[in-house]
Amino acid sequence: MNLDEIIKLIPKTDLHCHLDGSLRPETILDIASRENIPVLSNNLNTFEKQVKVFGKCSSLKDYLDKFNLPIKIMQSEKNIYRVTTELLEDASQKNIKYIEIRFAPFNHLNDKLNPEQVVETVISAMKYNRNNLGIKSNLILCILRQEPVKYGIALVNLAKKFFGRGVVAIDLAGNESDFPPEIHRESFKLAKEYGIHRTVHAGETGISQNIIKSIKTLYAERIGHGTYAYKDNKIVEYMKENKIPLEVCMTSNVNTSAVNCYNEHPVKKYLDEGLVITVNTDNTTVSNTDIIQEFEYLVKYQNFSFGDIKKVIENGIDYSFASEEDKNDLRNEYNSFINRYKNN
Ligand SMILES: [Zn+2]
Repeated sequence: MNLDEIIKLIPKTDLHCHLDGSLRPETILDIASRENIPVLSNNLNTFEKQVKVFGKCSSLKDYLDKFNLPIKIMQSEKNIYRVTTELLEDASQKNIKYIEIRFAPFNHLNDKLNPEQVVETVISAMKYNRNNLGIKSNLILCILRQEPVKYGIALVNLAKKFFGRGVVAIDLAGNESDFPPEIHRESFKLAKEYGIHRTVHAGETGISQNIIKSIKTLYAERIGHGTYAYKDNKIVEYMKENKIPLEVCMTSNVNTSAVNCYNEHPVKKYLDEGLVITVNTDNTTVSNTDIIQEFEYLVKYQNFSFGDIKKVIENGIDYSFASEEDKNDLRNEYNSFINRYKNN
């Protein structure tokens, strides 16, 4: 087996994947036409420009604008169930065996759904496909940085209702430059008290101090992106010592110009220095990628070896928010692939 084949077949994880950024474009078009939601074009190729980024965006705002239409069509139980199932089908097809899906439930209340119904719908699609497709998954609920603090607290209480029934963690997402992590200190403190896991988008757009603030003030157990950690060696050392994993999403960082190009991403440097690195998609549609492509880019532009690939996948299992039972199943499945590979 060559490395390309291994990348396709090896059991993988994805710990950082936004539901609303990973809808099939043809599904968006289909639902938009049924529900009379205006789109730029009914031609799929032309339409894709409305929901995908090819190469670089002019700003993070441009990137975030790509979520407007997907969120508009995710306002009914039927549509939310469909897009969740399709995301799991697409992930399973790439041999992702465990995925943590994240989204902001309060974005989906326009058609009079309540937050519980929104979360319940995603969880029921996840449960069905755990059996149907054999893909394990958990849900992370996102607080949006620009929203008032009381929304964050309401979200933590929503997460608590579903904790142990599909929801494993909360996240902080959105515009990092204008809304620093400490604004949502109270919500994350509450989550910690409830025993709900915490991950935080930080150091994605140049403010490396947000990484350390997220760990110390928001009790973040994992950091989304953390691309700019290298700006301050103390931060790198702190994460290394405390084994705080980075959820790396390379294409997304190229899209938002967090890095100039794939070659300049610090991921390999971080891995070689001993940071805990995981590899993830962020948004398969908006970033026009999938987990196999992310690994291919790592091999092509970052010189990832088979050993590096194994390391980041093992980290994905070990540092996931999955139950110990699920982690053991995932390790067994992964180890049996590695053993089969050795014998071939
Ligand atoms: Zn993200």
